[in-house]
Amino acid sequence: MNVIRKYIKKEITMDGVWEKVETKIGEVDLGEEMRKKELYIKEYGGLHNFYNSYYACPICKKMLFKTVFPVGREYAIEVENESNRTVKLKRAFLCKFCQAFFAAAKVKLADGVIYQYLADNIYEYNWLLNDMDARGTTKGRRD
Ligand SMILES: [Zn+2]
Repeated sequence: MNVIRKYIKKEITMDGVWEKVETKIGEVDLGEEMRKKELYIKEYGGLHNFYNSYYACPICKKMLFKTVFPVGREYAIEVENESNRTVKLKRAFLCKFCQAFFAAAKVKLADGVIYQYLADNIYEYNWLLNDMDARGTTKGRRD
């Protein structure tokens, strides 16, 4: 199990470079009940630290799920076309339909520039999803 995990992690590190792209992120039109209800992704995949956001996937327009990384434990990613290359994420969003991950490149996801990672396959998607779920929380942060 450890060997497989290390192997996958190595693959992820090698291929897991995010892109910085300009795109418009819209909002989903959730009904009033849906706004109140927290739709944790564990309903779908046994995860605990992703929950509903108001943002829509830029690809399929369905709701993005969100996780928040605690202060001091931001999630490091590598970004292809970013001068600094290593970026620490405060929050990450995912679309389970597109197997895609997104994060704000400025302050908010709707600012028009985002980091995105489109998983090549289900293994890569699951690895990143589980890794983020293990490090993320459902507690908001002020910044
Ligand atoms: Zn999508």
